[in-house]
Amino acid sequence: MTQQEPSIEELEEYTKRLIPVKPGQPIRFRCTRCGRCCSGGPNVALTVYDVVRMARFLRMHWKQFLRGYVKVIIADLIPHMLLRGDERGRCLFLATRHDGTTLCVIYPARPMRCRLYPLLVESLQPQTLYLDPRSPGVGQGPPRPQPEKLIKQYIEERRRHYQKLHQLIVEQGLPPLQALYQALDEAWQEAEKGAKWADLDYLAALGST
Ligand code: SF4
Repeated sequence: MTQQEPSIEELEEYTKRLIPVKPGQPIRFRCTRCGRCCSGGPNVALTVYDVVRMARFLRMHWKQFLRGYVKVIIADLIPHMLLRGDERGRCLFLATRHDGTTLCVIYPARPMRCRLYPLLVESLQPQTLYLDPRSPGVGQGPPRPQPEKLIKQYIEERRRHYQKLHQLIVEQGLPPLQALYQALDEAWQEAEKGAKWADLDYLAALGST
């Protein structure tokens, strides 16, 4: 059985239930290791920085990673990358232990959206944050600070990602896919030269939700 795309009505209902969070407002969340957040279909949006980090972690070239694990959708000339799921909508990197709990096999290099989940950083200017009510861990545990440094890093990466695509597509006139490949190549070169964003220890030190 293949995973069905949600209907417009379901998406509207989901959007209405999102819990708004002000910048700096403490949040309550405790991971229950249920793996539900990694089983909802190909809904993890990726930047070129996410792709390069994951590919390097798996010791493969970004082209190979893109072919095997990423779905590219072009909308309004902009290419969007989503992590692929299996036929049931489970992320290809989600594994289940003997005791039924789940784990991410690329955890140190997992995408920014996964590091931040269930916190959703939807708009950058003004900064708009939500908690995803579908996560059973939301509302659990004592209030704690948001991962401010990680949010800042994510916003910066997303800004650079779209700025680069805009420059290549709109200003230089490259076709969307070619622009994406060039942006990935440039990010790959940056990582090879030791860019801070490619250092997984640096990223881990920024915290997570
Ligand atoms: S990359 Fe890891 S954390 Fe992200 S959806 Fe896949 S299994 Fe879950």
